[in-house]
Amino acid sequence: MAPSTKYIFITGGVTSSLGKGIIAASLGKLLQSRGFSVTIQKFDPYLNIDPGTLNPYEHGECYVTEDGAETDLDLGHYERFLNVPTSQSNNITTGRIYNNVITKERKGEFLGKTVQVIPHITDEIKSNFYKLGQEGKFDVVITEIGGCVGDIESLPFIEAVRQARWDLGPGNFLVIHLTLIPYLKAAKELKTKPTQHSVKQLLEAGIQPDILVCRTEHHLPQEVKKKLALFCNVQLNSVIEAMDAESIYDVPLLMKKEKLDERVLSKLKLPSKTNTDLENWKDFLGKLKNPTQEVTIGLIGKYVSLPDSYKSIIESFTHAGASVECQVNLKLISSEELNVDNVKSKLSELDGILVAPGFGERGFEGKIETVKYARTNNIPFFGICLGMQVAVIEFARNVVGLEGANSTEMDPKTPHPVIALMEEQKKIDQMGGTMRLGSYACELKKSSKAYAAYGKSKIQERHRHRYEFNNAYLESIEAKGMIATGKNPETGLVEIIEIKNHPWFVGVQFHPEYKSTVLNPQPLFVKFIQAAIENKLK
Ligand code: GLN
Repeated sequence: MAPSTKYIFITGGVTSSLGKGIIAASLGKLLQSRGFSVTIQKFDPYLNIDPGTLNPYEHGECYVTEDGAETDLDLGHYERFLNVPTSQSNNITTGRIYNNVITKERKGEFLGKTVQVIPHITDEIKSNFYKLGQEGKFDVVITEIGGCVGDIESLPFIEAVRQARWDLGPGNFLVIHLTLIPYLKAAKELKTKPTQHSVKQLLEAGIQPDILVCRTEHHLPQEVKKKLALFCNVQLNSVIEAMDAESIYDVPLLMKKEKLDERVLSKLKLPSKTNTDLENWKDFLGKLKNPTQEVTIGLIGKYVSLPDSYKSIIESFTHAGASVECQVNLKLISSEELNVDNVKSKLSELDGILVAPGFGERGFEGKIETVKYARTNNIPFFGICLGMQVAVIEFARNVVGLEGANSTEMDPKTPHPVIALMEEQKKIDQMGGTMRLGSYACELKKSSKAYAAYGKSKIQERHRHRYEFNNAYLESIEAKGMIATGKNPETGLVEIIEIKNHPWFVGVQFHPEYKSTVLNPQPLFVKFIQAAIENKLK
């Protein structure tokens, strides 16, 4: 491995959902602001090869990278904070590790040896730990270990971290343990025992954490910090308080105040560049917290009971809203609850409507009614992936007059398959990794709203879908006023549709939300919010 690359491992203890991803992204941001090049990777302990086949209710949204990897939603945070693309190498699961090892075994690469968790699985994990560092592009590689210390399934990862200390040598390796300090209301006390236990578990596995980051609802008094330092065997200045924050975007500044970055630099013997550049970040926070206007936007989808299913869309509204100093009140509405009779009353307070991506038939007709309401009442409409497909189907049925028009995903026998599988996809019968995934080019028509948003005609956006606009219907649909304003220049596949005589009606086959970052808000989201502001003022 490149000896100059420094490796930081982040483990979690006491409970899950403490926000390891946000702490990793915030530390990455702080190091980046001091001039270091940083990447963050996540190792997930589950057996799926990737989260592509998982229902969003399991782990929230599946995040797609430029190279078409289906990954954990934490990679979205890494990109949104660091403004640097990630790739397949940034997200590895136990399933992938075992798959690689078993494939090697079948090829006879272990030369007759008994294949075992140690060393073969741990070697495979370690070679993946070091892969991005070996590219020579990064000063620091931060590795988030999913799950909690003590979980049976994360044991091989923890063992690999233990071994990595010796591969990398002192000064190149650091473990940060993220933990929870619960507050007992009745006793009016912050309790350190769960943290002591989880650090003990790490020690049993041979790992001494260098820094403790302690999630807490109350400030940690000095004596609590001292107790943690004493019992957990860390320096007092390396017990870092992580108070609950108003917004995830506050966390880098909170961590800076707590000197997390300084502790890391000194332990890794990195030169402490003093002038940190966080001006753009502070600018964004200033606008986020001081909006001059507000709009209410409805997000219509079927996974609304778990907002993490729409993580990137929700964050895109935060970035785009801040850029125009507008507070976006996002209302998540289940499409299953919507029908012809109630759609008007349920959606009447919205200044703009977004129909979300999704799979399968559940809630589909509610989405059709939503699109019809937005189209006929001139409400700004943004359809993403399935949302765009629904817009095409609604238009085909109600404007073009193609009765029973549908996607072959919902109705394989539809007389008018306006959304359908392309020939080459029909041959695929495995579920995992069979979609059009990752970044594809799109060429925009100059007269379009999309062009007005991007300000250029050649764009690249990320995809995650199987079905496509069926070009056999393009002419009849365009004749009635729904125009394909963006197409893939190589295949001619329709990427964007717009309705001519509507204030703002845009459907996109790709997922613009994956590329929105704090410093680069996604242009379609910005324009959609502006259209909603105008609609509100009407
Ligand atoms: N289910 C649709 C398809 O596979 C849309 C997918 C999506 O919204 N991500 O094409």
